Amino acid sequence: MPVMTPGAALRRAAIVAVAQAAVLACAVADDGLPRADASRLERRIAELGRFGANPGSGVSRVAFSDADIAGREYVTSLMRGAGLEVRIDAAGNIIGRRAGGEPSLPAIMTGSHIDSVPQGGNYDGDVGVLGAIEVAELLKAHAIATRHPFEFVVFTDEEGGTVGSQAMAGRLGAEAFEAVSHSGLKIGDGIRAVGGDPARVAEARRAPGTLAAFVELHIEQGAILAESGIDIGVVEGIVGIRWWDVTVEGVANHAGTTPMNRRRDALVTAAELTLAVNRIASTTEGTQVATVGRIQAQPGAPNVIPGRVEMSLEIRDLDAGKMESVFRAVEAEARRIADVRGTAIRFAEVSLALEPAPTDERLRKLIETAAASLDLSHRRLPSGAGHDAQEIARIAPIGMIFVPSQGGISHAPQEFTTPVDLANGANVLLRTLLAIDRGALESRQPAARASD
Ligand SMILES: [Zn+2]
Repeated sequence: MPVMTPGAALRRAAIVAVAQAAVLACAVADDGLPRADASRLERRIAELGRFGANPGSGVSRVAFSDADIAGREYVTSLMRGAGLEVRIDAAGNIIGRRAGGEPSLPAIMTGSHIDSVPQGGNYDGDVGVLGAIEVAELLKAHAIATRHPFEFVVFTDEEGGTVGSQAMAGRLGAEAFEAVSHSGLKIGDGIRAVGGDPARVAEARRAPGTLAAFVELHIEQGAILAESGIDIGVVEGIVGIRWWDVTVEGVANHAGTTPMNRRRDALVTAAELTLAVNRIASTTEGTQVATVGRIQAQPGAPNVIPGRVEMSLEIRDLDAGKMESVFRAVEAEARRIADVRGTAIRFAEVSLALEPAPTDERLRKLIETAAASLDLSHRRLPSGAGHDAQEIARIAPIGMIFVPSQGGISHAPQEFTTPVDLANGANVLLRTLLAIDRGALESRQPAARASD
């Protein structure tokens, strides 16, 4: 048996004490709140990634598939382990609840989705679900009591059209159940397969005012944060989308015998209009984007002047008024071009438009404060992709936290976010939710001034 001198024993005890203090310093931040466990998050991303794993990398865990059902069982077991009371609502959403000290208060909700696109990655949606469960783990491990009940949610079939969150917002009608999902099952049958009940989907609806707030953690799915080396994205909102089918009418004629000054060329008009769309969207102040993505000339022969063109116009922005004013500018320019070219341009709006869903300004500020308290860099940015939060925006104030996507890649097996960024996101989420719990969103009556 090795004999230790008293001095060596003391030194050893000191080293152990320093090591333990270092561990504690890692687990608790300067603000006294616990810190997310990056290696646990990384491990769980990998574990969830086994359900529907493709050979090589990435997953095909489309909603209602066997892989989706197995993945849902996995996250349900994590939720139970984190002390949550788990139920499945009529739309198949998994909801884990943690009681608050004041049961009459509306719940604070966080979460995302675990279904993927075919040939997708391991981070889209998963980060928001596992980050939410990480928050539940920290609340439990550190016995943090909250005033509000907390709800941790896994939404049904996000990639197939935000099915579960639409139901929660009261917008999922019976006609949606007949549509066929990526799994091959009709959505109604899929909801049944995951434990919901389409006949009672109205029960999944949450009335406005019954949720104090919804905060979703998600990967950016773009390259802004990764390329600028910024830790946290504070999402300003999910952009709205408007689409038009555009028809240009000219006169088809012989390409050899029609002089240049006698032509009514629909494709030349369409080309000028395409340039005008790009110029108007680029030179108008703001973050709007506008695209002509499809163009088809008829009759489409090298020796015939095009008599007709079918093209598309898409405009996206956070501000519905801005989308309208950009469209009005395009329309006015179209009239001028058509006039000069002796052609006619018609715009028919396609009714699939998505309304913009701005996040709540108070929640943006809370997310910024949380990031700053952790010494994390942050910036505001819009989300060009759709999310469950845009549906919940109809019934509750929403906030969204983005973490960097390496290379800006998403909906592909190469999707990747570092464990440090996963933990940063969960840390900001925890602090934001606790600030909401402390009453940051509650309207305070202006204090009555004492009369003298
Ligand atoms: Zn997603």
